[in-house]
Amino acid sequence: MAQVTELGYMGLGVKDLEAWKNFATKIVGMEFSDEGERDRAYLRMDYWHHRIVLHSDSSDDLMYLGFRVAGADEFGEMQRQLTEAGVKFRAASEDEAAERHVLELIKLADPDGNPVEIFHGPEVQFVKPFHPGRAMHGRFKTGTGGMGHTIIRQRDVAAAHRFYTLLGMRGGVEYKFRMGKQTITPVFMHCNDRDHTVAFGIGGPERRINHLMVEVDNLDDVGLTHELVRKHKIPVTIGPGKHSNDHMYSFYFRNPSGWMFEYGWGARPATHQSEYYMQDVYGHHPETGGFGIDTDS
Ligand code: FE
Repeated sequence: MAQVTELGYMGLGVKDLEAWKNFATKIVGMEFSDEGERDRAYLRMDYWHHRIVLHSDSSDDLMYLGFRVAGADEFGEMQRQLTEAGVKFRAASEDEAAERHVLELIKLADPDGNPVEIFHGPEVQFVKPFHPGRAMHGRFKTGTGGMGHTIIRQRDVAAAHRFYTLLGMRGGVEYKFRMGKQTITPVFMHCNDRDHTVAFGIGGPERRINHLMVEVDNLDDVGLTHELVRKHKIPVTIGPGKHSNDHMYSFYFRNPSGWMFEYGWGARPATHQSEYYMQDVYGHHPETGGFGIDTDS
């Protein structure tokens, strides 16, 4: 069975490209790359050509997730297993692959309609060392864990679990949060040594994406980012704390599109076995807006 190996890239629709450029470089530390294309720009986190494509678009939301498979064989095998499962996909043209800076890709959608791309062969620019948009103590932790993790909207959690399992991920419920009279049981799916790459099951937020987590290899970069966020009066939605599932020390803040970035350090490797938690280790107290969990759904 072919398996996706990482969240390799994502495309974001952003209303205010200039605000995103400032936010991504001066606050988050990513590298901004403008190749003269009228409708888009790129954000780098490592040697890859890009990890995020910023598209000028009024949605202020996720436009697509790019999941990697190891190579051409796995790419073929993945198409066979999607076909056998009756999942529709479209093989992208050479031009479309070039647009994403990958060798080959297919385009499909997950059960909630989130556009998903499965690719192999990203363009890696060893000629262009990562140059952070502002000083960093360390670097973004990508490598075999991919660019990070994301929580996305899935109104049918069981269907989403089946879909991401078909892509070769594994996972399940990792928390049981009591919120008023309800219990929220989010599902976390992993495909590498990150505890989770995709998670869902927190109700039906207005957007496709709840947050993107990026991880750094030096705790001081979490501290520095936290100082910058507070200094620039960017709303902190969840204060610093440590998660029980991935052991990430992190905090959450709003990006210019209104959804959240999580900035983290110190995660443990995935256990690859199921377990669940009733609360975090410490901290992660809600501030402006909190986690955006829709307790009515
Ligand atoms: Fe997270």
